[in-house]
Amino acid sequence: MPVYETAAGTIRRGAAGSGADTADTRPDTARGASSAEDAVLRIGGTEPESIVDGPGFRYVVFVQGCDFRCPGCHNRRLQSFEGGRPAAVRELLGEIRENPLLDGITLSGGDPFTQAEACAVLAEEVRALGLSVVTFTGYLWEDLCAAAGFGGGAAGGGSAAAGWRRLVEATDILVDGPFIQALRNIDLRFRGSSNQRLVDVRRSLAGGKAVTLAF
Ligand code: SF4
Repeated sequence: MPVYETAAGTIRRGAAGSGADTADTRPDTARGASSAEDAVLRIGGTEPESIVDGPGFRYVVFVQGCDFRCPGCHNRRLQSFEGGRPAAVRELLGEIRENPLLDGITLSGGDPFTQAEACAVLAEEVRALGLSVVTFTGYLWEDLCAAAGFGGGAAGGGSAAAGWRRLVEATDILVDGPFIQALRNIDLRFRGSSNQRLVDVRRSLAGGKAVTLAF
């Protein structure tokens, strides 16, 4: 069975629902969020206007916490689940609404799938504004889909799997896979190593396999 080896331990394929190998390390603020009124994220910060975190002009949310601990990670301060600060989704939405130049938001980190439910709430509200959502993750597209029950497979139980499914569905472009130092390439756009893919989520869900975008 494919596994992810992280500094925090072994995460098996489908870990969001299995619960057998993965402790729920998400911060309290990320659990149980269901609406923009009560959802709270733990974030390391924001970048109100970026042109390097996805196509167009984007508001970037750096989610706090990541299990992968990739050697060479350029956001090491965002790996800890203890750092950062709480940020209400409604406050982030207020800032996003104030900027008419934005093409969308980018959920970066850290790993947004460690706080999937609250990230999904934000992403859904942003898409309702007509903006796009780019989400970075250390997980592979195929493993997220298996864990969330896309493609005919049975989703794992529990709120984590439901949150993963909701965040996948609220994402337009998923940048997947861990950063691999040996594959680092500074000429790539929007990602650091050549193993990472820009997955077109709508077309991938419709076709049942990853459809990647060339940037
Ligand atoms: S997945 Fe991203 S944030 Fe997490 S350790 Fe790897 S490079 Fe850093």
